[in-house]
Amino acid sequence: MTDNNDQRIARDFSARSQAEQQDFIENTWCDACQKENLGLNSPCEYEQSGIIYVEGKCNVCAKMVVTEFTDDEF
Ligand SMILES: [Zn+2]
Repeated sequence: MTDNNDQRIARDFSARSQAEQQDFIENTWCDACQKENLGLNSPCEYEQSGIIYVEGKCNVCAKMVVTEFTDDEF
């Protein structure tokens, strides 16, 4: 983690539908494991510089995994 001027705005991940949450928890890419869809632990959603992210811990190595929302429906 580095110091960043852009502030994180917390969002409520649990406000999403079950299907959407499930989607995010299952469709991941872990840089440390170099594997996809390992699963996410304790997901948390936030906004930074107008981009929405979901962050959690890799189920296998417990490293931080961040998924960026590319959906522009927001
Ligand atoms: Zn991992």
